[in-house]
Amino acid sequence: MKALRREILLAFWKVHVLHHAAEGPIHGQFMLDELRRHGYDISPGTLYPLLHRMERMGWLWSTVDPYGGKRARRDYRLTEEGIQVLKVVQEQVGELYREVVLEAPAGEENVQSAE
Ligand SMILES: [Zn+2]
Repeated sequence: MKALRREILLAFWKVHVLHHAAEGPIHGQFMLDELRRHGYDISPGTLYPLLHRMERMGWLWSTVDPYGGKRARRDYRLTEEGIQVLKVVQEQVGELYREVVLEAPAGEENVQSAE
């Protein structure tokens, strides 16, 4: 299942981050709780580097409360580029969902065991 996380779920988590950052500022603990609510068991050691990477790519920008001290919370928001990326992703997720979920055969006879 490690390959599944690295190859596919990591991208899903980024989509969640884009989606929630578009609704307002997010912070690490919020995203950890949110992803767990969706059934993803993700650790801070995975999430925080992911947020930093998305910021380096120019999709997020962050601020830290200057009075928050050493453990001040970092809030992330979407940049203009992040908004554009989210728009593309929304279209592509819709397209993917239509094909992979809605048009998928009802039975499971075509599906091989994942193991
Ligand atoms: Zn979510």
